[in-house]
Amino acid sequence: MSFIRKCPKCDKEIIYKNKKILKTAIKNNKLCASCSRKKEKVIEILTRICPECNNQFTYKSKGAYEKAIKFNKMCRSCTANSLEGKKIRSENAKKYSKLRNGKTNYKII
Ligand SMILES: [Zn+2]
Ligand SMILES: [Zn+2]
Repeated sequence: MSFIRKCPKCDKEIIYKNKKILKTAIKNNKLCASCSRKKEKVIEILTRICPECNNQFTYKSKGAYEKAIKFNKMCRSCTANSLEGKKIRSENAKKYSKLRNGKTNYKII
């Protein structure tokens, strides 16, 4: 006699030969062998290849990594050299020149 239980994570059927083991598994919400193996902490290395210069670079946060994939971001140096980087620079320059020319850029003593 065997008992079948589904893995709560992957829905794979787990066969138990013993009702006692089955009960313990239900109680502890046990995962199947492959899922419990996967549970061991995997150190994620978030690396991407820059689409522009083909250099490999790493990300410190998963959020930044996913965002980079989504927008097909280039590495930092390529971004700085790209149109986008130039745009940001010129926007900053505009901002500063506005400040320089603006009325707020002087003090009345
Ligand atoms: Zn599983
Ligand atoms: Zn690059």
